[in-house]
Amino acid sequence: MKSIKDVNFKGKKVLVRVDFNVPLDERKNITDDTRMRESMPTINKLLNDGAAVIIMAHFGRPKKGGFEAEYSLNPIAKHLSEMLNKKVMFTQEVLVDKVAGLSSFLEDGDVMLLENIRFYPEETKGDVAFAEKLAKLGDAYVNDAFGAAHREHASTATIARFFPNDKYFGFLMENEVRNLQKLMNNPSKPFTAIVGGSKVSSKIDILKNLAPIVDNIIIGGGMTYTFLKAMGINIGTSICEEDKLDIAKDLIEEMKRLNTKLILPIDHIIADKFDNEANKSNTEGQSIPDGFMGMDIGGKSIELFKNIILESKTILWNGPMGVFEMPSFAKGTFAVAEYIAKATKKGAFSAVGGGDSVAAINQSGFAKDVSYISTGGGAMLEYLEGKTLPGIKAILD
Ligand code: AMP
Repeated sequence: MKSIKDVNFKGKKVLVRVDFNVPLDERKNITDDTRMRESMPTINKLLNDGAAVIIMAHFGRPKKGGFEAEYSLNPIAKHLSEMLNKKVMFTQEVLVDKVAGLSSFLEDGDVMLLENIRFYPEETKGDVAFAEKLAKLGDAYVNDAFGAAHREHASTATIARFFPNDKYFGFLMENEVRNLQKLMNNPSKPFTAIVGGSKVSSKIDILKNLAPIVDNIIIGGGMTYTFLKAMGINIGTSICEEDKLDIAKDLIEEMKRLNTKLILPIDHIIADKFDNEANKSNTEGQSIPDGFMGMDIGGKSIELFKNIILESKTILWNGPMGVFEMPSFAKGTFAVAEYIAKATKKGAFSAVGGGDSVAAINQSGFAKDVSYISTGGGAMLEYLEGKTLPGIKAILD
C-alpha cells in the first residue's frame, strides 16, 4: 500500500477528498468535529511538506443541483481555518471551470476548500468528464474519506483514474483499510463476531458473509427475537420481523452446516413497556411471557458471552445488545464493551464499527481499550458484507 508517509509533496497541488460531514445545530455550530480532527494528520502532513492543499468534501444530501444555503460548507470552512490556524480559501463556487481559475493562483502552503461537492449533480453520478475537470485542479490525489468509501462518486472514486501514479490513501483511510484487511484476511482464531441492533434485515448480508469466516456469532439486541421466534420460542411483545423468520431459519441451518457456533441470549431483561421507567425483570430462560418485551440480555447471557469473548483472539462488534439509550437496559451492551476491552488487554485484536456500537463503546468508557474503532458507519458495514468499496478499489487498482 503506497502511503503518503513515504512521499514528499513539496511544490505539488494535492487534491484531498475528506469526510467533513459533521453534525451542525440549528445555529450552524459544529456539535462534534471528530471527523474533521481525524483528517488533520493528513492535511498537516501535506502542508508541512510544502504542498498546496485543495480539499473536496460533501455535506448532507443536497437534491436540487446547485447551491443550497442549508448545505453550504461555510461553517466548516470557518472551523477548518481555526483548526489549521491559517486562512482557508473557500471557493463558494459551484462551477468547476471557475474553480480551476482560482486554483491556479495557489501557492505552497495554501489551503483551498471547495464548496459542497454534492452541489454538482455530476458528483453522485460518478461522472467521468466532471472527475477529469476536478483532476485538473491538482497534481496528486489523496482519499481520506473512509465515511464515503462505499460511494462510487466522482470525487471519491472516478477521479483516481486520472492519477495512475499519484493516488494515495490519507492516514485515516490507510488505517481503516489496514485494520479491515487484518480483520477479514487471515484473522487469529477463535474469531468471534458480536452482532446486535434492532433488525435482522439490516444485518443479513453481514451474517451471511461472516458465517464462513468466524468461529462464533453472538447475537444480541432486537434481532434476537426474530431468531428465537424462528426456533419456536415465545417472545411476548418483543420486536420481531415476521417476514424474516424464514431467513433466520436459513441462517441457523447455514451456520450449522458451516460449523459456526451461533450463540443467542439464554435469558433476557424484559419490560412491560418500551420505557426506561417500565417494570422490568430478568427471565429464567429464553422464553418471554406474553405482555412483556425483551429489552436487554440477561445476567446468564452476559456470563455466557463473557466467556466466549475472553477466549477469542479476534473480535468484531457491531450493534448494541439492548436498548442501551435507556439506562435501565444498557447493562448488557456495556458489559460486552468491558469484556471486549479485557480480551484486547489479553492480546486479542478487536474492531468496533457501525453507528450505534461506536456510540455505545464511547459511552461505556472503554473506547480507548479496543484495537480499532471504524470511523465509517455505512462503509464499514458494506465492507463486512463482503462488498468491494469503490473508494478503496480506486486507489488500489
Ligand atoms: P441498528 O441501527 O440496527 O444497529 O440498531 C440499533 C438500535 O437497536 C438501537 O437504537 C437500540 O435501541 C435498538 N435495540 C437494541 N435492542 C433492542 C430491543 N431489544 N428492542 C428494541 N430495540 C432494540
